[in-house]
Amino acid sequence: MTSRAPFDIVIAGGGTAGWTAAAVLARFLGEAARITLVESDAIGTVGVGEATIPQIHNLLIGLGIDQAEFLRATQASFKLGIEFDGWLREGESYIHSFGQVGRGAGLIPFRQLWLRGRALGVAGEYGNYSPNVAAALLGRFARGAGPGGAPELAYAYHFDATLLARMLRGYAEARGVTRHEGRIERVERDGASGAIAALWLDGDRRIEGTLFVDCTGFRSLLLGEALEVPFTDWSQWLPCDTALAVPSDDSRLRPYTQSLARPAGWQWRIPLQHRTGNGHVFCSAFTSVDEAADLLLANLEGRALADPRPIRFATGHRRSFWSHNCVALGLAAGFMEPLESTSIHLVQSGIGRLLDVLPGNAADFSVARDLFNRLSASEWERVRDFLVLHYIANERVGQPFWDHCRAIEPPATLAEKLALFGESGRFIREEDELFLDDSWGQVMLGQGVIPRGWSPLADNVPPEDIGPFLASVERSCRARADTLPAHRDFVDRMVGESPGGHR
Ligand SMILES: Cc1cc2nc3c(=O)[nH]c(=O)nc-3n(C[C@H](O)[C@H](O)[C@H](O)COP(=O)(O)OP(=O)(O)OC[C@H]3O[C@@H](n4cnc5c(N)ncnc54)[C@H](O)[C@@H]3O)c2cc1C
Repeated sequence: MTSRAPFDIVIAGGGTAGWTAAAVLARFLGEAARITLVESDAIGTVGVGEATIPQIHNLLIGLGIDQAEFLRATQASFKLGIEFDGWLREGESYIHSFGQVGRGAGLIPFRQLWLRGRALGVAGEYGNYSPNVAAALLGRFARGAGPGGAPELAYAYHFDATLLARMLRGYAEARGVTRHEGRIERVERDGASGAIAALWLDGDRRIEGTLFVDCTGFRSLLLGEALEVPFTDWSQWLPCDTALAVPSDDSRLRPYTQSLARPAGWQWRIPLQHRTGNGHVFCSAFTSVDEAADLLLANLEGRALADPRPIRFATGHRRSFWSHNCVALGLAAGFMEPLESTSIHLVQSGIGRLLDVLPGNAADFSVARDLFNRLSASEWERVRDFLVLHYIANERVGQPFWDHCRAIEPPATLAEKLALFGESGRFIREEDELFLDDSWGQVMLGQGVIPRGWSPLADNVPPEDIGPFLASVERSCRARADTLPAHRDFVDRMVGESPGGHR
């Protein structure tokens, strides 16, 4: 066996993406890599990004971070899903909950039974069959299995992303990551290969590496600027281009994110232990920043704790996520609005993919790079399709922004999903796409995409059995929710707990 020199990995940027990468790479590469991170306090981070999806557990468990400690350090709360208010029509709402909706009967998926029950007039709202929706509407939460072995509620977190980055910084530095404070002023490229050779920081400091991870945020300083990888623009499908963010002192602790449709976009509410994060994502062709700020401030629960801060963005991604010896993560790779809380997850899955494909020898990244780019593009496109669905299937007729969205031609991959679902409520997962059948089903139905029929599988159940079956599923969801403590009480109790691991 031959020993090899460790990788010299240089991470540019210390926001959520940079410190997550540093922590995970340090934890899993250990002695196989020397890791350096460069960040500039003067430039700062984007400072938003507070809602997640259940895959966040893989990160925290992988790092061995204790759950109570995590809740304390990041002011986190639990999240059972997202309420979409007014997205189909003003005054109507639905919840895209995590976890399973209903339960199938043998090989017959639940949604097919529900569709048949709906045609027979014996089915309630689709959300009535989700244990998460029942708990969310009562403002309740607990971890762990329910009475009679009912499965654990699927959940994610809301947290303060700045505090998470701080926590991960401590974790990474304790595992040998070296941090340089300073502004990257120049990116030095190798004359022959074009690869990045070093970063030059203010004060004439030179940081060399074999693999560079660009986490410099929207600037995309290495991949976008230095390596000139062009941007693939998706604004024809997702036209919002600006966000305003403001915290408020509201103390309600809903166990779910709220997404409230607005005339030219939507507003988020993300409850944390010590404050609520609020924001307004909108399309600047349909409203002004001032109008958008007024609307946001008029719709806060509690007092604003700062002035709304505008953030301009372009939706899409760098055509290659990895070029030469540089991989981009986070905003440096691209951005999709936080409608389904996917950005931090895409950072996490990008790091996982990097670890999966990282070759044994830093001299040749070509196979790893091609694979990484292909898989990342596919993952991003599927997430994009899911977001586009929310916009194009609206019935907010007469509102110029929403009329514009309804007229958007969906990407071919989404058009196919709409056709399949519209015919018989089916969804077929492709490759490793992030959102599963239950997510697509809830958002399709919530956005008014009602299937014309159902799978013949559901015809195999006597019609008189369908109503009682649906009623029993609904009862069990409600009964489970009734046994749970208030979300605030559960959080308070956990925050007071001593360390005990992460589940
Ligand atoms: C409005 C909005 C809402 C969001 N909400 C969510 C959400 O709810 N859930 C979710 O998962 N994600 C959300 N996101 C995305 C999330 O904020 C980002 O994915 C995440 O914070 C990662 O950011 P980043 O680390 O890539 O970039 P940044 O936080 O911008 O960090 C960039 C880093 O690069 C450094 N840097 C830049 N230039 C230089 C230089 N020249 N020299 C040295 N250092 C430099 C900066 O100092 C900083 O450390 C949201 C994003 C936006 C814009």
